[in-house]
Amino acid sequence: MGKLKRGDDLLRAIGVICREKSIRLGRVEAIGAVEKATLGYYDQKRKEYDFFTIGSPHEITSLIGNISLREGVPMVHAHITLSDEKGNVCGGHLAPGTTVFACEIIIEAFDGPDFNRGLDKDTGLPLWEM
Ligand code: ZN
Repeated sequence: MGKLKRGDDLLRAIGVICREKSIRLGRVEAIGAVEKATLGYYDQKRKEYDFFTIGSPHEITSLIGNISLREGVPMVHAHITLSDEKGNVCGGHLAPGTTVFACEIIIEAFDGPDFNRGLDKDTGLPLWEM
């Protein structure tokens, strides 16, 4: 458990922790607030992410994700739900470009065989090879 610093890039900061602590397999959750956010939505027809920016402060009502390997390096895949001053929520695939205002994070590391990501031709996504 820990906190991220104001101004951290949310996704990158989680990745740094995982690499520093050699966490190759696990789960992550967080709550807090962001100054702004960049989220992705995967267009299933085009097989491409569309990214959009939320340029104002929001609460992190939920961040949930996992840690596995992509090309041998720990990769964080997380989704996030954010709420505004009226309680309206929006969310998506967490992308770089999301700036922490305050964030409390829990990372749970698992023992076990590596989970590796590779390109899944059906979806165009880097899914677990199993
Ligand atoms: Zn995603």
